Amino acid sequence: MKITDVKTYLMQPGPRPGLAGPDASFRGSRNWLFVKIETDEGISGIGECSGWPRVVETAVLDYRSILIGENPRDIDRLWHRMFVASMGHGMLGTVGGGALTGIEMALWDIKGKALGQPIWNLLGGRFRDRIRVYGHAKTAERARELTNLGYSAIKVGFTGAVKLDCVAAVREAVGADVDVMVDAHGPSWMTANDAISVGRALEQFDLLFYEDPVAPENLDALQRVRDAVDLPLAAGERVSNIWGIRPYVERELVDVIQPDTGRAGGITQMRKMAAMAEAHYITMAPHSGSLGPVAEFAALHVMATIPNALMLERVEFDWPGRYEVVAPVLKVVDGHLPVPDAPGLGVELVEEEITKYPSARNVGDMPPDDGGAYEPGTVDECVYFQPRLGRRARLRMTKPGG
Ligand SMILES: [Mg+2]
Repeated sequence: MKITDVKTYLMQPGPRPGLAGPDASFRGSRNWLFVKIETDEGISGIGECSGWPRVVETAVLDYRSILIGENPRDIDRLWHRMFVASMGHGMLGTVGGGALTGIEMALWDIKGKALGQPIWNLLGGRFRDRIRVYGHAKTAERARELTNLGYSAIKVGFTGAVKLDCVAAVREAVGADVDVMVDAHGPSWMTANDAISVGRALEQFDLLFYEDPVAPENLDALQRVRDAVDLPLAAGERVSNIWGIRPYVERELVDVIQPDTGRAGGITQMRKMAAMAEAHYITMAPHSGSLGPVAEFAALHVMATIPNALMLERVEFDWPGRYEVVAPVLKVVDGHLPVPDAPGLGVELVEEEITKYPSARNVGDMPPDDGGAYEPGTVDECVYFQPRLGRRARLRMTKPGG
C-alpha cells in the first residue's frame, strides 16, 4: 500500500442558515482542521489537528512530500521522519505537534480499516468499553443540567480570577457524589503564593483536581503549589509529545496529565505519555476544550487501552453543528461515551457539511479589561504578563456567602 495524497479540511464553526438566536450568529475564533490521507488501495484515513489550525494546515501540506509514495503502515517511522524534518522549527511546539497528530491519527485509521479492526484492538485491547466524560459549568443551573444528562464530573473554569462563590454554588448543586474540578487556565499573573492561597481556599470543596494553577511553563512555581496545597493537581494541555510532558511526570508535579488529543503528537505519543505517567502513578484526562469530533474518537481509542485513564473532557453544550460534520454521532449515556467498534477510528467526515463553514480567522478576541485590575493610564490591553492592582481585585476570592 502506498500513500497517494494528503488533503486538509479547515472549517470554522459558524452561523447556521435557518436558525434563530445565538445559534444563528455563532462565530467563534475556533477552527477545526481535519486531514485525509488517501492510498492506492482505495482506503483512506482521517485525523484532526489542533495547535493553531490555520497555521497547522500549511505544516500538514508541507509534509506531503515526505508522505506520498510511502507505506502508510509504517506509522512510527513516518512520524520520526516528519519530526526530524521539522526539527529546525522547534521540537516541542504545538503547531508541529498538531500537524504530526492529524497525520499520525489518519495513518492509524488506515491501518485499522485495512485490518478490519478498531484502533483500540491494535493497541493491546480494551480495559473498558465506555469512557467517563466530564462537562463544564460555572453556575448551579448548568451543573444540574449536566448531572441530569448523567454527568458525574464537572469542571469550573476561570479565565480571570478564581471565584470561590461559583465553585461553592456548583458543589452545592451537585452534592458530594459528583466530582468537581477547577481550571485556573495557567494565569501568568498568578504568583506561586497567590496560587497557593487560592488552592488552600479551594481545599474545602474536595476537588478531584486543581488545574493549571500557574503559568504552565513556570514549573518551579508549580512545584511550590504542589508542596503547599492539599489538592491533586492537573496540567499538560499546552505541550506536545513525550518530551513536552516529561518534566510534569518525571518531577511528579501533577496527579493528572492532560495532553490534547489534537496536538500531543498522535495516538502513539498519547500512549507513550500514558505509560510514562503510569510508572509514576499518575492518571490521564485528555484535554478537549477546542477540539472537534474526530479527535474525540481518537481519545476514546487511547483511553480504552490504558490502565490509568481518568476521564475525558467534553464540551456538552457546543456549537450545534458539531456532529453534522462527521458520522456517526456519539451520545453520552450515564456520563460515558461508548468506545467505537468500527474498523479504524470509526468516524468519517461529512465533506459537504464541512464546506458550509469556511475559516475566516483563528485569533480570538482580546479579553475585556479584567475589572479595572490595571493601573489607570498605563496598561489597558491584554498582555501576557504585567503587574496588576489590588490583591483582592485580582484574585476575586469572594467567600461563599460573603
Ligand atoms: Mg485547561
